[in-house]
Amino acid sequence: MIYPKRNLGILGSGQLGRMFTQSASKMGYNVLVYSQEKDSPSSKVGASPINGDYEDFEKLGKFIENVDAVSFEFENITENCLKFLLEIERNRGSNFFMPSPSCILLAQDRILEKEHFQSIGIPTVPFLVIRTGNENWNEFSFPAILKTTRFGYDGKGQWKFSAPSELTEFLKTNPPNDNLSYILEKVFPFEKEISVIYARDSSGKEFIFPPGENLHKNHILDTTKFPAEISDSIHDKAIQYASLLGRSINYYGVFGIEFFVLGEELVANEFAPRPHNSGHFSMDASNISQFELQLRVLTGQTLPDSNQVKPCIMKNILGDQYDTSINICMDLMSLDSRYHLHLYQKDEAKPGRKMGHINFVGPISEVDSRFWTI
Ligand code: ADP
Ligand code: MG
Repeated sequence: MIYPKRNLGILGSGQLGRMFTQSASKMGYNVLVYSQEKDSPSSKVGASPINGDYEDFEKLGKFIENVDAVSFEFENITENCLKFLLEIERNRGSNFFMPSPSCILLAQDRILEKEHFQSIGIPTVPFLVIRTGNENWNEFSFPAILKTTRFGYDGKGQWKFSAPSELTEFLKTNPPNDNLSYILEKVFPFEKEISVIYARDSSGKEFIFPPGENLHKNHILDTTKFPAEISDSIHDKAIQYASLLGRSINYYGVFGIEFFVLGEELVANEFAPRPHNSGHFSMDASNISQFELQLRVLTGQTLPDSNQVKPCIMKNILGDQYDTSINICMDLMSLDSRYHLHLYQKDEAKPGRKMGHINFVGPISEVDSRFWTI
């Protein structure tokens, strides 16, 4: 049997599901995507859309019955839904959901996530949990960033405060409750942000890319420079921490883990239990992309022993000045075949919305200056 798992289910149908579908269809698999969206980036490249709410367990249950394995393209799934999936996992075994819904539960909760990092020896920024009845932040180090524990992304659900009194004021109008808790983090004076794309197959074999260096603008990833310019010891620690995390939660699939670097200090910020925006360089600069890694794990294949990656710069294309950016991309591509454009076929170009990305495969010194204005 060449294809024991032929029909693959993805929860979510955005650009990450789309790029997964592109990899999967190339190798002859069928992809079914579950989301509310009818005309999604994933369905536009051939994934079969099944429309439903994450809490419509009848529909979701049917979707799951019709596929041979399930993975995720985003982690902001409700707790009720994840509990439902965990119940199914108990019957179907540990190779049906990759990763396990328990990994999604961990990744979507900033408190559980940071507590887990610390419990396995991965350093984090100092933090304080803010729940109802807990008002002892006067001793905490400011400036600090307050984040909602769950459902934040691209800097949403985050507020910066320079003094405890500002936080007190904020919490008067936005108090925590049974469904809303916060994590207060020290503002870490990082010199660089880096991330590692990690994959692990069902035999426990790992495949880890060297770290890339990330630049955020308005809390949204703007550029990834691959590989990161960092010391050997930071490089080794980042890979070691990614591996520690993956093995500690028996992770099957691909994740991206983000770090802050200050001198020789490395602290973990968060991980995303799916292919990561900062791993898009792998689509053009690597012999195997992060989406193909996700596919290979999900279909029970063994990950390769070796890989070759070239230097690459990835630039996100946001909705803010979409037409101008596309014109620049077209110009650059007409000059040099090392530019590779990826667009997600989203209908509306809204400010801050990720519309696509462009990779330049080559040394940073050879990038055209217009690339940075995209
Ligand atoms: P999101 O889920 O929105 O990606 P992050 O925790 O990654 O949330 O925060 C987004 C960005 O905000 C980070 O990449 C970093 O640039 C900045 N940031 C977040 N937390 C801190 C912190 N404790 N200290 C300094 N900068 C931070
Ligand atoms: Mg982040």
